[in-house]
Amino acid sequence: MKRKVLLIYTGGTIGMEKDYESGSLRAFDFGNIFEKMPEMKLMECEVFVHPFEQPLDSSDMGPDEWRMIAKLISENYDQYDGFLVLHGTDTMSYTASALSFMLKGLSKPVILTGSQLPIGDLRTDAKENLLTSLYYASLYENNEAVIQEVAIYFEYKLLRGNRTLKYSAEFFDAYSSPNYPILGQSGVHLKIDKDNLWRDSLQSEFYVDDHICEDILFWRIFPGMNLNHFKEIPKMKVLILQVFGSGTIFSSSKTFETLQQIRNNGTEIVVVSQCISGGISFGKYENSNIFAKIGAISGKDMTAEAAITKAMHLLNNPKYEGSFADNFSENICGEISELGN
Ligand code: ASP
Repeated sequence: MKRKVLLIYTGGTIGMEKDYESGSLRAFDFGNIFEKMPEMKLMECEVFVHPFEQPLDSSDMGPDEWRMIAKLISENYDQYDGFLVLHGTDTMSYTASALSFMLKGLSKPVILTGSQLPIGDLRTDAKENLLTSLYYASLYENNEAVIQEVAIYFEYKLLRGNRTLKYSAEFFDAYSSPNYPILGQSGVHLKIDKDNLWRDSLQSEFYVDDHICEDILFWRIFPGMNLNHFKEIPKMKVLILQVFGSGTIFSSSKTFETLQQIRNNGTEIVVVSQCISGGISFGKYENSNIFAKIGAISGKDMTAEAAITKAMHLLNNPKYEGSFADNFSENICGEISELGN
């Protein structure tokens, strides 16, 4: 029996070709992918293509598009064995993170991929990314999907989606998963590291919780920043502060007063690190004590992308009981390690 994969094409470089006369990139009709890549017919799975009517650069993807993808997966969940989302690379880690929170009780693979060069380019990385992603999206053992989470496949590596970040606009190897090991690797053989795969301990039925609240602000601190600017930012429900190293910030009393004022206004403060790997550890240095004092929430080793989309998903979400802080600190779908505080 051939496994069925629904390929959702949203846009991005992967679906483009070069107009060799003008030299510019243009989107081609992804519905014709089988003509462009007849080798897709040799795959051991059956592929059905659902292109977005209007392919998008991923800088235009946001909550509405995340909901569209989640809805498509939900409407087709029973008919397909796996899902492949082709996506621009710039914001793919945000979409993967958001989907990981929205798709509850997932027991089928949802793989995202894209490419650095268009599929119509001679040196393209698109074909390998696409074909191997299809392999992972249709991988079953004993009638059970091997991958039961949202993952990104890119340049020979399968990564947990909500642990990734795009770190290179140049290299084919554009994604990194600094705080979680890779899930699989493709070389001569296609490998999976089963110990690293996510399994939902709740074993709930699949459903979509598409709650996303946009009342979030992300702010990166820097030496010499004028704290008065905090007074000018609009009131919001969650402020994600990207601070130094393992969680330090300026020790001045003005810092404390400014952040305490923000807290007094009812804003949750989440703290994530500017370092790509490792994470926040409150209390390690004196310059991080302030966060415990004002009741800030540690983002631990979450990526900025995961922290932002998790905050969007949890804020005012009626399906979650308990406080925002408690829910944010929970590991929902493998986005956070159980280390430190
Ligand atoms: N700007 C493109 C996008 O993210 C880049 C890419 O696809 O690689 O949609």
